[in-house]
Amino acid sequence: MFKKTIMFCLLSAALTVWAGKLPEQLPVPGGIVELAAGDASDPAPKVFFQDRRVLVIQQDQQWLALVGIPLNTRPGEYQIDIVNSRGSSRMRFTIADKEYPAQYITIKNKRMVNPNPDDLKRIKADRIPIGKALRTWTERQQVATDFIPPVDGRLSSLFGLKRFFNNQPRNPHSGLDITAPAGTPIKAPADAVVIDTGNYYYNGNTVFLDHGQGLITGYFHMTEIKVKAGQKVRQGDILGTVGETGRVTGPHLHWNVYLNRTKVDPALFIAEYMPILAARNKDRP
Ligand SMILES: [Zn+2]
Repeated sequence: MFKKTIMFCLLSAALTVWAGKLPEQLPVPGGIVELAAGDASDPAPKVFFQDRRVLVIQQDQQWLALVGIPLNTRPGEYQIDIVNSRGSSRMRFTIADKEYPAQYITIKNKRMVNPNPDDLKRIKADRIPIGKALRTWTERQQVATDFIPPVDGRLSSLFGLKRFFNNQPRNPHSGLDITAPAGTPIKAPADAVVIDTGNYYYNGNTVFLDHGQGLITGYFHMTEIKVKAGQKVRQGDILGTVGETGRVTGPHLHWNVYLNRTKVDPALFIAEYMPILAARNKDRP
């Protein structure tokens, strides 16, 4: 009996490819939905949400689709399309509502709230390399989702907040802000390849990482950038340092995470670290 159990364990270990810790699932706008998309003994299916390819990883004996839900999604019924060797099928899921709080921020540099015509030209030009970086899709089989926090700091602003700069409504907060002194190292949360680096009007010094199959991360407002486009990084490698370049009120890392070209809540990828980062706010007014 004991021997049999061991045999079974060995067998299931051989069949299982451990994708590592998964992000937390949260079926709301800005969240992530995880759906079983077929048996792992079949070749990996192609999965689409709103005509965009979706990350598919092997988890135990199944293919699992990790679907990023855009912040402007209305609550209701949605579907993914699953295409495999047998044809295509649909799977439905439900998105619930989430009320994100409002945040009022005072920016001293007025041009960061109401850019002049030259600034607007630059903002428009910035969209080209940023858009190109965010359209990256690589067919990597092993996509590491077991992230570590990119900065050892304190949480200063959550994803999804409805933002007002100098009382003027602007886009909701697209990432997670971690505050740390300027010069604090920013680390790769998982193995990845550097897509591009740049200096942009709002984002300041920026790095984009490709983790595979549309899982992309972005690092904004850096002082120094210490990596180059095309460079492979391992989890924990230093990408650069925390800074206050672009539209900021002080030094911090603004961290974005994208799935299927959709900004999702980065906190879902570091859920177990969030209480530690949040607790550091208690020392602050
Ligand atoms: Zn931010």
